[in-house]
Amino acid sequence: MSKRGDLYKRADSAVSKYVRAITEEKYGGCPFCNGEIQCCFHFIRRGYFPVRFNLDNLVGSCFACNGDMENNPVKYIQWFYKKRSKKLYNELMVKGYSTNKLENYELDEIRKKYEKKLTTV
Ligand SMILES: [Zn+2]
Repeated sequence: MSKRGDLYKRADSAVSKYVRAITEEKYGGCPFCNGEIQCCFHFIRRGYFPVRFNLDNLVGSCFACNGDMENNPVKYIQWFYKKRSKKLYNELMVKGYSTNKLENYELDEIRKKYEKKLTTV
């Protein structure tokens, strides 16, 4: 794997663990179905790199809801509007479609930040 690919993988892993931990603390399970938290759910797909590690774009979820997002996004976007806000969703969309690229050092900083934060959950 490329260095950059590895930096993404490690940042994904650190952010995912943290998001799953804070979701468990807040909702006690998948916020959509109350199942077991197994994934880091992205409201705006992970391929939109500028919001891939943005906590506003993330929540822990079960595998089923994470997969269902592909086919039934409206359900999850409505949840977002209700629990977070439509304004925030629109802001994330704008950021997500921007061309800002994360530098390698930023990916490393993201990983370190969330590994550290996880120890405080
Ligand atoms: Zn679920």
